[in-house]
Amino acid sequence: MSFDVVSAARVGRSLDLDVDDVVVGSGAAGAVVACLLAESGRNVVVLEEGPQLRASEIESMRPSQHLRKAWRDGGMTVAVGLGGGPSINVTMGRAVGGSSMLTGGVCFRTPAHVLDDWSHRLGLKGFAAQELEPHFEEVERAINVEEVPASLRSLSTKKFIQGAEKLGLVIEPLRRNTRGCNGCGRCNFGCPHGAKLSVDYTYLPRAVAAGARIFSDVLVNEVVIEDGRAQGVSATIVDRARSPFRRAQTVKVRAKRVVLAAGATHTPLILARSAVRDRSRQIGRNMTLHPAFRMFARFDERLDGWRGALQSAYSRSLEHEGITLVGLFVPPGVLAATMPGFGNEHVRRAADIPHLAVFGGMIHDEGGGAVRRGPGREPIFTYDMSETDKQRIPNLIRKMGDAFFAAGAREVFPPILGQAGLTADAFRAKDFSKVPGLKLECSSQHPLGSARMGVSPDSSVVQSSGETWGARGLYVVDGSVVPTSLGVNPQLTIMALATRIARGMISGSAR
Ligand SMILES: Cc1cc2nc3c(=O)[nH]c(=O)nc-3n(C[C@H](O)[C@H](O)[C@H](O)COP(=O)(O)OP(=O)(O)OC[C@H]3O[C@@H](n4cnc5c(N)ncnc54)[C@H](O)[C@@H]3O)c2cc1C
Ligand code: SF4
Repeated sequence: MSFDVVSAARVGRSLDLDVDDVVVGSGAAGAVVACLLAESGRNVVVLEEGPQLRASEIESMRPSQHLRKAWRDGGMTVAVGLGGGPSINVTMGRAVGGSSMLTGGVCFRTPAHVLDDWSHRLGLKGFAAQELEPHFEEVERAINVEEVPASLRSLSTKKFIQGAEKLGLVIEPLRRNTRGCNGCGRCNFGCPHGAKLSVDYTYLPRAVAAGARIFSDVLVNEVVIEDGRAQGVSATIVDRARSPFRRAQTVKVRAKRVVLAAGATHTPLILARSAVRDRSRQIGRNMTLHPAFRMFARFDERLDGWRGALQSAYSRSLEHEGITLVGLFVPPGVLAATMPGFGNEHVRRAADIPHLAVFGGMIHDEGGGAVRRGPGREPIFTYDMSETDKQRIPNLIRKMGDAFFAAGAREVFPPILGQAGLTADAFRAKDFSKVPGLKLECSSQHPLGSARMGVSPDSSVVQSSGETWGARGLYVVDGSVVPTSLGVNPQLTIMALATRIARGMISGSAR
């Protein structure tokens, strides 16, 4: 999709702008809010740290190029594990379209039991399922959420389903934001066919059509606050070709309203650098991650697991144990690069890729993530997994392995660093509760909750309207506000909450 984005690095001078609303970050939440505010007639500018990747560029990119251009830290961000828990590789986007561009397209509404918890335990008003229904419907229409047909299931996913159903697990089709998907399985590295309707295909073009201006390559440093009210932001232009001896150019925006949508890992950093009152001392804390684990299995027959939708089925049968199982696959090139061994051994393992099946599981975690300002640009990121969540990991590994063996796998590869393949007997004999946390291979694509929404300035960072308790006219709309872990992929929740907040701003009820 082509729509006009101005690369601030190409303008060649500092910028000084005066607008109604400035939105920081162009991902899932920022795109929704920018679009709705612009369509309501406001003068909106969006500032995005990353570059714009045009569809024509994505088509010709190898995954390794995509990782370098569109993923923060090339996908290598780590939340350091504390208290004997695993360190977690947290991935996120840094480009026009944010992490929305990198998703497998999976869309879940917030589970009813999570919304009940927000209403009853946290006391949040206006978040009951029927109150959020119109916002979910609006987003689902805009990004075309549809069920993945069984015909798009890969043989990898079908193998897992075969085994899981023998164990009594119920497998259901996933819903994704797609139109015309051909099952090429590349979703995480940008859809080369324009079939995944991420915000760069939906909300951002609409925002520009309604008059919003989007500047890429702009790193927002802080919110300017005077007399307890947000007045705008100050930023630096990210010019990767700039000589280190030349001063960086800047962007100053004066605005009636500042909307932070820099994602759950970076919005807290901007808040911490700005003079926002923080009575709760919760900025950057309480982060949940949905720690996730992958299980590989080798079958005798050829599966070519990359043929089919990357993600097509899931199971919530283990919800009561805090576990959600979600199908996935990894492009063969990326898979080969992450396999252990050198020389002939590596070649032998890589030759097995067509015989591999993969499934993933994530934990509906209790939190324990924190980001704080570090010496450089990126945060110091830690995750102290709760004892309850640590105890869920062996069960998760056991269930995924059992399912693959029930489907006839020859061996499985549990998510343990340095672990060779295990036969069924070896797998059954292994006590996974004895594996040290630091040896577990754990990842996350879902940071949430680091500037949580709540009913009191003593325990939360933003109000249910999205406005911060600490500065008037300053809003947070991204994954940071989600007050608890969800147990399911979060983009739809984030976009529906952003819609709710934007609608409140437009009607004036959020001011
Ligand atoms: C590989 C991957 C796969 C995923 N798959 C799914 C899926 O299938 N289903 C699902 O529901 N969720 C999925 N997610 C999660 C989902 O993408 C995120 O939860 C969602 O996009 C978060 O929205 P956000 O607006 O909070 O942040 P983001 O979408 O991450 O947007 C934040 C933006 O802010 C920019 N930014 C940060 N700091 C600054 C600054 N100082 N100045 C200017 N700009 C800044 C960033 O560059 C980024 O573009 C996936 C995520 C990843 C990484
Ligand atoms: S499977 Fe291929 S066509 Fe379908 S959404 Fe993913 S990248 Fe696009």
